Amino acid sequence: MIPASFEYLRPKTVSEAIGLLQQHGDDAKILSGGQSLIPMMKLRLARPGYLIDINRVPGLSYVKEEGGYLKIGGLTREAELEGSPVVHSKYPIIVDTAHVIADPQVRNLATVGGNLAHGDPANDHPATMLALGAQVVATGPKGERVIPIENFFLSIFSTALQPDEILTEIRIPIPPPRSGGAYFKLERKVGDFATAAVAAQITFDDQGVCQEAGIGLTNVGPTPIKARKAEEFLRGKRLDEANIKQAAQLAAEESEPSADLRGPVEYKKGLVKELAKRALTRARERAGK
Ligand SMILES: Cc1cc2nc3c(=O)[nH]c(=O)nc-3n(C[C@H](O)[C@H](O)[C@H](O)COP(=O)(O)OP(=O)(O)OC[C@H]3O[C@@H](n4cnc5c(N)ncnc54)[C@H](O)[C@@H]3O)c2cc1C
Repeated sequence: MIPASFEYLRPKTVSEAIGLLQQHGDDAKILSGGQSLIPMMKLRLARPGYLIDINRVPGLSYVKEEGGYLKIGGLTREAELEGSPVVHSKYPIIVDTAHVIADPQVRNLATVGGNLAHGDPANDHPATMLALGAQVVATGPKGERVIPIENFFLSIFSTALQPDEILTEIRIPIPPPRSGGAYFKLERKVGDFATAAVAAQITFDDQGVCQEAGIGLTNVGPTPIKARKAEEFLRGKRLDEANIKQAAQLAAEESEPSADLRGPVEYKKGLVKELAKRALTRARERAGK
């Protein structure tokens, strides 16, 4: 339970941190909240030679609406997200999500950037960001580039971030009127990772027809999954019980769970179907308000 030895580096700016990443390459890791990295180091599943602690880099922690987006700084803690007035009033799906991540102690340190950058399909924010059509801002030696979230998760624990890039911001398009979203998760006990979870975000037109649908699935595949067939099915339709049921069925078919201590494949697929129904029903309610 004791990590292998490493050098601890504490840059004061993003560019200094990027310089250190360039200098040490694959042997270096960014340290944010440490809530995934430190346990992995203790288990010797990760053995970085250099830890680049960005916690003292100013300007990476904020939640604000600007230029048509909700912007979340990469180093924003889960607890800050939960406490943000704009998130509470306009983005209940994010409150749902942050609230079921681990426990308050973990959420006081864990960051939204770390939750995405870790590339763990069991983490909760990825599905919600897929449902919301978010973008990830990666900052590297050549400046910033914007990665659509649907291109971000490559395989288990692997993302589109280059070794010399830092996730500095998450951008969520401000939802139009008549939008609503929800996140539903089943966990074995409070604080556990999901057995399965579903994020759903819906926008209606002024006739009450579904204009846009975003659906993301947690921990039912090697990466977080965007349920494209279910989304496509809902566009142009009313969200009555039959269509919600059909979309939930499609989402279950798109999931790729494996059997493990949390349950067999068929059980997890059934769970996706039920959680998708609940998430879509709550999203519909919230959009109607
Ligand atoms: C007991 C426990 C229960 C948990 N339960 C849940 C849960 O239910 N749901 C859930 O979603 N998560 C859960 N987590 C994980 C937790 O939310 C993590 O903290 C989070 O996934 C990673 O954020 P972090 O800031 O701690 O990242 P760190 O642990 O510091 O880093 C994680 C990885 O991401 C990289 N990284 C971090 N920040 C950046 C950045 N800005 N740019 C580039 N790379 C970066 C690091 O190099 C490292 O590889 C749990 C953790 C614990 C300890």
